[in-house]
Amino acid sequence: MGKRGLKNTKFKVCFLLYGLLPLFLSILFLSGTAFAKQKEVSLKVGWFPRKVEQGDIYVVNVLVAKGARSLTGEFQGKALSFYKVKKGRLFRTLIGIDMETDPGTYQLVISAKSRSGKAVRGRYRIRIKKRDFGEQRITLPEEMVELDEDTLKQVEEEGEKVKEIWTKERSDRIWRGKFIKPLDGEIISPFGVRRILNDLPRNPHSGVDLEAGMGEDIRSSNAGIVVFAGELYFSGETVIVDHGRGLYTMYFHLSRIDVEEGQRVKKGEILGLAGSTGRSTGPHLHWGVRLHDARVDPFSLLRLR
Ligand SMILES: [Zn+2]
Repeated sequence: MGKRGLKNTKFKVCFLLYGLLPLFLSILFLSGTAFAKQKEVSLKVGWFPRKVEQGDIYVVNVLVAKGARSLTGEFQGKALSFYKVKKGRLFRTLIGIDMETDPGTYQLVISAKSRSGKAVRGRYRIRIKKRDFGEQRITLPEEMVELDEDTLKQVEEEGEKVKEIWTKERSDRIWRGKFIKPLDGEIISPFGVRRILNDLPRNPHSGVDLEAGMGEDIRSSNAGIVVFAGELYFSGETVIVDHGRGLYTMYFHLSRIDVEEGQRVKKGEILGLAGSTGRSTGPHLHWGVRLHDARVDPFSLLRLR
């Protein structure tokens, strides 16, 4: 296995020769025009980061030979769809490794077909490592933790409504270039930390909490369409931006919302002001990211180019 850089990308690319070797051999033995056919259907696959952990956004780059007609893939039982990176034959897909994915080895399958119908398939072993998210003990007034029946029902209904959003993935990519932090604040509660509320273990923290002053501007991490703008029990005044291709960013506990559902926003556009609405003990921004329904670390979004 050798490492080499790809043009137009700074990602390290690993050309998995051994994965393609059986294919080359079968072509050599079966065909008199081995090189032409090999070129016709070959693919090079690389990924970033090299070590994949729970909560990562995992980028797969595929360089296909000229003349390849279809490119498909599968990971964790889900079909992958690729988008073209600039001009040329480099394609990319982003995979979200949910924070609670069991660590272990998973198979990535990538297939391409040539115009003449010749197929090539690569299988790659991807090891997902356990990440130590740490633990945080929080004490809240009992009435914020113990929910009465009506509130429970409300929370459940809200959960269903938000879940609906993740099922309506757009096939186009709206985001462009690098993602930005919605504001400059330091991390006050990291992503994935296991929370113990008043001595009872709760769901892990699905976003990152950033320090924010009351009324500070909250900016959209990238271009997108506002798919939710309203109040929810836990997250208070909430904005969810759809960046296309199954990628969403979320902004919780705002004191004011300045956008409407259906509105297109630019990267850096003000979505609202920081606050402490919902279940919150002081002004801060909870920033969350969903990718194909996986809860991923917002900071892994900042590492994308
Ligand atoms: Zn939070």
